[in-house]
Amino acid sequence: MAEVGSGHTGGVRVRVAPSPTGDPHVGTAYMSLFNLAFARQQGGDFILRVEDTDRARYVPDSERQIFQTLRWLGLDWDEGPDKGGPFAPYRQSERSDTYRPYVEQLLAEGHAYHCWCSPERLKQMREEQQKAKRPTGYDRLCYGKTREERAQLPGFSENPVVRMLIPDDVALSFIDGIRGEVGAPRPDDQVIVKADGLPTYHLANVVDDHAMGITHVVRGEEWISSTPKHLLLYDWLGWERPVFLHMPLLRNTDKSKISKRKNPAARLLWFQEQGYLPEALVNFLGLMGYSMPDGREIFSFDDMVASFDWARVNTVGPVFDLDKLAWLNGHYVRELSPVELASRITDHLSRTGVLPPEPTQEQRDVVTSAVPLVQERMAVLSEAEGMLGFLFADETFAIDPAAAAAVLTGNAREVLTSALHALDALETWTTPVIEDALRGALIEELGLKPKHAFGPVRVAVTGRRVSPPLFESIELLGRERTLHRLRAGLDAVTDEGEKG
Ligand code: GLU
Repeated sequence: MAEVGSGHTGGVRVRVAPSPTGDPHVGTAYMSLFNLAFARQQGGDFILRVEDTDRARYVPDSERQIFQTLRWLGLDWDEGPDKGGPFAPYRQSERSDTYRPYVEQLLAEGHAYHCWCSPERLKQMREEQQKAKRPTGYDRLCYGKTREERAQLPGFSENPVVRMLIPDDVALSFIDGIRGEVGAPRPDDQVIVKADGLPTYHLANVVDDHAMGITHVVRGEEWISSTPKHLLLYDWLGWERPVFLHMPLLRNTDKSKISKRKNPAARLLWFQEQGYLPEALVNFLGLMGYSMPDGREIFSFDDMVASFDWARVNTVGPVFDLDKLAWLNGHYVRELSPVELASRITDHLSRTGVLPPEPTQEQRDVVTSAVPLVQERMAVLSEAEGMLGFLFADETFAIDPAAAAAVLTGNAREVLTSALHALDALETWTTPVIEDALRGALIEELGLKPKHAFGPVRVAVTGRRVSPPLFESIELLGRERTLHRLRAGLDAVTDEGEKG
């Protein structure tokens, strides 16, 4: 791996260039993964550049969340706003001065022109074009006019934008490093500097990719239509073109583009909230478009690096199948050592408020002891909240009302009373002793079937109808708390007639 600060050594340099416009999109992780895998395989550099020139859509906390989620996934960068590097600054808002000379050059050489059309005029123009079923696009009213000439005409606004003058013979296809020759629609006279003086994405992106020595631009398919404009800018400015590679878009199961509006999984934070493991998500994102030479579905980032080849990237829109992800996650959960899983569960429970931000050693020990009860049963860490929450709730402990209504009724009073007596009499508090006592009291003496014997005890003690194995749970909960909950459970029993 290249040392930060080593400068451009002539090797591969790739980047991910997210815009901090909201909480991080899963596509940012997806692009980072493929860029980074390629960089690592080539011994190149991976750069994180924040594209924050769109101040209207800027969300202050977004950048921190982007850093946090990418690091959580292990997709760390060699150069970036927080790390510095030879081409700092890595935030476009701090680079505004870099763009100006190139704008001057493009204007002077006739590749760009000022446009004073007001937003209202542009809107009206577009509506008329649509009504007449003509192709929409800027009609070049301002082209070739001085400010004074243009000011005589309607729809003039004080602060001009700068537009590219797209030539008639603009190339509408280019060679993509994954797809081969791709075509794109004819571009409009793209705005490259906005009325506020800031560059648009198109200009800033090209200038920075050049300035930062980016050799391969790996990005989403949605940018294919922009690439002819970017290529023009490279040519006009006399710069060597990088290789362009467009990854497929992630799709919902209905094949539509994955979006935060439609799919919670478009938000990277969602995976943390749900308790997916970063290694599972990395594997899953890898599967979205990449296939291992031996076809195996379970692979790590390092496996992917070792075999990495753009020819193995499939551009047919990969479907974001959450069932598959849950399956993968369950696999990784079972692969973890119990100690490691305990630490992941503890972190998750802290994050979700089941445990305090700094859990006590005792709380950590309880999670560690509980891991064998849940490791085989859970797919995502959030399930631990439901399965283990009862171990940490005291004042807040409450029996799920639906479970109470269904189970703490009929002969539940008799069951709980017998269980209470049997457990109260115990001198040692271990799983086998607890099991013997409850079986003796409920199955042998009361003659109940296991479901009727243990159901009410489970609901009283864990608050739920589904829990980790009962006797182990009771051991972990401890004597005092168990007896206390059985008594409280007794108070919660309703007789058949009382319901409703
Ligand atoms: N800022 C763009 C984005 O948010 C970067 C696109 C590119 O990689 O060129 O997706």
